[in-house]
Order: sequence, then structure tokens, then C-alpha cells
Amino acid sequence: MYAFTQHRPATVRQAASLLAKQEEAKLLAGGHTLIPTMKLRLAGPKHIVDLSKVEGLTGIEMKGRTLVIGAMTPHVEVATSAVVKENIPALADLAGKIGDPAVRHRGTIGGSIANNDPNADYPAGALGLGATIVTNKRRIGADEFFKGMFETALEPDEIIVKVQFPKVNKAAYVKFPNPASRYALVVVDMPFQSYEESKEQAFASASRIMRETGCGAVKIEGGVPFAETIAFLVARGIPVMGHIGLTPQSIHTIGSFRSQGKDEAARLSSSSNQPGPIESDAGSCADGRWLSRPTSWSRRRSNPARANRSLRR
Ligand SMILES: Cc1cc2nc3c(=O)[nH]c(=O)nc-3n(C[C@H](O)[C@H](O)[C@H](O)COP(=O)(O)OP(=O)(O)OC[C@H]3O[C@@H](n4cnc5c(N)ncnc54)[C@H](O)[C@@H]3O)c2cc1C
Repeated sequence: MYAFTQHRPATVRQAASLLAKQEEAKLLAGGHTLIPTMKLRLAGPKHIVDLSKVEGLTGIEMKGRTLVIGAMTPHVEVATSAVVKENIPALADLAGKIGDPAVRHRGTIGGSIANNDPNADYPAGALGLGATIVTNKRRIGADEFFKGMFETALEPDEIIVKVQFPKVNKAAYVKFPNPASRYALVVVDMPFQSYEESKEQAFASASRIMRETGCGAVKIEGGVPFAETIAFLVARGIPVMGHIGLTPQSIHTIGSFRSQGKDEAARLSSSSNQPGPIESDAGSCADGRWLSRPTSWSRRRSNPARANRSLRR
């Protein structure tokens, strides 16, 4: 993570003034989008303006026929609120479907709406219910607020204070489950010398590994020379994660760790309709160039967008 200065204002006015005065400042709500983004070095704000101590940003109440939810209200409070359940049950249902308990306890409605991730639940709910987003400067109808993927009408020093939902007679929220984000896939890396001798040796080793460990797939290192082996295993029902780039065991023959397989990697990530021999059989490929990435990093050839989403969630 980058070094940054954290500010803890007590009022919305102070928070807005910090945003306006400090160069490259970002608001922090539940941190469930901002912190991972910073960890991945996709964002590096110099100043963080933490909203957790700002007065008046939480709470849920009915004002006439309008449900008002403070921007810093976590998802779990919306999901379990008697007021929300009584007046707009679909909204409580929506909030209860967000992520997992940790996400629901930290993530906030304001953060979710400001972020406007196309995968997120609240932006769809706010649009469908005709919500109004109230900021420190103005009131913005949902139709005007959401501009595009990760884009909103918010100005750089504008802060969402609350979200207002008109009471509706009927509403329902249905979410497409994303199985990729829910279950861990355990892949066992086949040990050096357990598959190189022949396709038959690879099949015997992989069968034993799957039987004894209960894993979901095996990984075979070595790149294109093992394409035939991978095809042999896949044809016999063994899911295989392929591999391109550097193989640790090749250190003895190449002399030192250095970048390998850039060409195959480029081909893997291209939109070519004629995938190479490994990509066509392996369910996913591990890219050995990036030694600092988590070992679970993989990219599904058939649907990279879905694999990327599962990394974020
Ligand atoms: C594992 C995981 C699973 C998730 N699953 C889901 C899911 O199923 N559905 C879903 O909808 N979301 C999901 N999320 C996202 C989650 O709901 C986040 O909490 C949410 O997107 C951002 O809210 P936050 O309070 O954490 O905001 P932060 O991460 O703190 O901030 C996000 C952005 O909004 C800005 N911001 C925050 N508050 C305000 C404000 N009041 N005014 C103006 N700008 C503000 C910040 O500057 C930042 O740019 C998931 C997140 C994780 C980590």
C-alpha cells in the first residue's frame, strides 16, 4: 500500500473542506472497495478522509412516505431493519444478499452508490425504486446520478449524506447468483516428476491426487510441451489448470529466476479465436511471470471477465 495521511473529520462540512483542500484525497466509508483497490495499487490517494466519526450519517427512518437511509449505514442494518422490512421489504432483501457477513457489517450504502460498480446491488435497487441521492450540495435523482460503469454525477468534493427511497406498493429484487464468487477451488500443483514421464504416468498421479486430497483440479507446469498430456487428462475427466512461464524446477537448467513465457502470456490474454494448445484444453492457466501474485491467481480463458470479478468479490 502507498503511504497516506488519514483524517477523521467530525462534520460533513469539515470532510468536504478536506476533500477540497487536500490534493488527491478520497473518502473512506466501509473501505470494502477502497482498501482492496489501494492494496492492488489501482488507487494511491495521498489523503484519506475517514467518514466513520462524522455525525449524522447513519440511521434509518420513515419521513412521511419516504424511507431515508444515512450514507454510512452498513448493509446489515438495512437488511435487518424493521422499518425497511415493513415499508420496502425488497430493499431489506437486496441488502441481505450483498456479499457475506463481513462485507455486510462494514460496507455502506453511500460507499456502494458512490462506487457504482456494475456488479453492485444498491445502484440497481436505487434506479429501480426511483431513489434520490442527497449530497452536501444537492439532491440528485437516481436516473441522473448513475452515469456509467464506476461513474456518477458526484463532483470531486461532493459527499453523499443520505439516500431517499419513495415507498412503493410492490417491489422485488432478484439476484443472479455468481457461483464463482462463492466457492473456493482447490487446485493441487502436481509435484515435479509425477507427470513428466508419460501421459499415463500423469493420469495415474492425477487420479491418485484427486482421490486422496479431494481437490477440484490439478495444475501441470511446463507449458506447451505438456499440451498433449493436458488434453489426455481432460479427456479422461480430470480438470487441469495449465501453466505458462517460469517453472521453479527449471532453475537447474536455466540458471536463475527470470521472466519467462511472455509470448504465451500475451496470446492467452488476447482475444484470439484460435487459442493455443494449452488454453484449449486446460480450464484455466496460471501465469508464472508474476511471482508476487497470490497463488490462486488464474484467468479463465473462456470468460476472463467472470474470473476478474471473482477476484474482486
Ligand atoms: C468480498 C466482497 C464481496 C462483495 N460483494 C458485494 C455484493 O455481493 N454486492 C454488492 O453490491 N457489493 C458487494 N461488495 C462491495 C461492498 O458492498 C462495498 O462495501 C461497497 O461497494 C463500497 O462500500 P464501502 O462503504 O465499503 O465504501 P468504500 O470502499 O469506503 O468507498 C468506495 C468508494 O466510494 C467513495 N465513498 C464512500 N462513501 C462516500 C460518500 N458518503 N460520499 C461520496 N463518496 C463516497 C469512496 O471515496 C470510494 O471511492 C463486496 C465487497 C467485497 C470486499
